[in-house]
Amino acid sequence: MAGYQHILLAVDFSKDSELVGFRAVQIMEKYEARLTLLHVVANVYEEPVYDLMSSFPVDIEEKLIENANRSIESLAEKLGLPDAERIVEMGTPKTTIVQAAKQREVDLIVLGSHGVHGLGLLLGSTANAVLHAATCDVLAVRVGN
Ligand code: AMP
Repeated sequence: MAGYQHILLAVDFSKDSELVGFRAVQIMEKYEARLTLLHVVANVYEEPVYDLMSSFPVDIEEKLIENANRSIESLAEKLGLPDAERIVEMGTPKTTIVQAAKQREVDLIVLGSHGVHGLGLLLGSTANAVLHAATCDVLAVRVGN
């Protein structure tokens, strides 16, 4: 059986993102695979607070994307991945992660068992949804305990 060829590392920039990232890098090195980093900027228009934010003068989405680009750059550097592809997309995290993996013919998605949404569940909601919907392997790196 061939090893993994293309790994998608889904990051939310929560405190354990580096730990999750290092696990993905270990697998990348073992299989000499390609690694792509992905962060999904949640669509503010789908959030209930949008009515409040729509009166703000600045383009909030543009700022969120700018910040995400900076954060993904910094994480890629910390992980020693200067050449890895970085993707910042707007959308709903769980569906965007699954779609991005399909579009890019990824064979392993690596994410944290929990992220910014906390430890309320055995698996976080994004992790759980990706695990159910993905058409490739999914590694949920245990974080938070
Ligand atoms: P959650 O299930 O939302 O607590 O998050 C679990 C994991 O899903 C996180 O550790 C990340 O690896 C991934 N994840 C969550 N939100 C995002 C996002 N907006 N973009 C990319 N990955 C995410």
